[in-house]
Amino acid sequence: MCIMTTLKNKNIMNLLITGGAGFIGSNFVKLCLEKQHNIIVLDILTYAGHMANLPENIEFIHGNICDENLVYELLQKHNIDILINFAAESHVDNSIHDADNFINTNILGVYSILNASLKYYKNNPNYKHIQVSTDEVYGSLEFDSPPFTEESPMLPNSPYSASKAAGDMLTRAWYHTYGLPIVITNCTNNYGAYQYPEKLIPHMIICALEGKPLPIYGDGKNIRDWIHVSDHCNGVYLAATKGKIGETYCFGGKEEHHNIDIVKKICSYIDDLKPRADGKSYSEQITFVKDRLGHDRRYAIDDTKAEKELGFTREYNFNDGLYQTVEWYLNNQDWVKNVYFKGTE
Ligand code: NAD
Repeated sequence: MCIMTTLKNKNIMNLLITGGAGFIGSNFVKLCLEKQHNIIVLDILTYAGHMANLPENIEFIHGNICDENLVYELLQKHNIDILINFAAESHVDNSIHDADNFINTNILGVYSILNASLKYYKNNPNYKHIQVSTDEVYGSLEFDSPPFTEESPMLPNSPYSASKAAGDMLTRAWYHTYGLPIVITNCTNNYGAYQYPEKLIPHMIICALEGKPLPIYGDGKNIRDWIHVSDHCNGVYLAATKGKIGETYCFGGKEEHHNIDIVKKICSYIDDLKPRADGKSYSEQITFVKDRLGHDRRYAIDDTKAEKELGFTREYNFNDGLYQTVEWYLNNQDWVKNVYFKGTE
């Protein structure tokens, strides 16, 4: 009994999760709570970050990752073993309209947490710093090209992906120049519960239920590789705990789909779960709109490295995961009202 307790306590870590009130960060918080780690969340609560995403009684600090002193104080006060950075401006369309917040958080914010981490690391040699990022840093794939790997060159095309690429580059430089123990992860498109309804899947579900047009950019033939948020969070956890220092790990879903096919699937699932009053399919609401500026055609990831080095596997297939996600949004309309429609009624 005594030995068990000692072993268990040795595995419990103090984690600082920045951006933990957003979509992926809050799912990651729940995973780490299940593993009984001590969690501190730092989040500025932008329009995309919500306390409603987090379990109650979580140790939450309302603050900005650009505040280097605050981050350093938190690292020291809570004797942090690993910082995992999910804090970001994450919506491409917003970055096209106004990139200021993207430059501030995704570049200057990353610079500030790297400085805080480096100062803390000097007296805490077992400390690690994890930067969570996107496959969009690699740019756009041709339809017949092999998927991106960790070796792919960074060729970002949007202000969002360029700002994320800059954050990743800074993180890499703090390892090579100053020896800060870092790991970087680059993942494909996530889906699942608690995703802010500006993103494709929840946006379409909500427009369908509201009886509004389902707006699809261009010809709808853009391809994304979709991974369930739980599988991504497991990958980040593996990278944080087992990843080799200084390395990058890519995560994908092995599920490439055209946007139009996803929207049709969503419609058929809602037809099944909550049929329209007039008996017609929600797919009648699909409309094609002017394409997004610089819209990348295809993203896909080959995550063989994570499979081999971290033992990474996926639990979800896309059809089941998407069905569950549609059900979650149908069953959690209060959450939607609270985070998305608040102030608009
Ligand atoms: P999100 O927009 O849902 O959440 C971002 C969180 O960061 C919010 O809680 C927000 O309040 C917080 N935040 C923003 N600026 C901050 C600041 N200056 N200081 C402190 N907190 C701040 O984003 P997400 O979809 O959860 O993405 C999380 C990370 O994962 C991002 O780095 C994103 O680039 C990356 N990523 C996302 C996807 C995806 O499909 N959503 C895919 C791959 C990688």
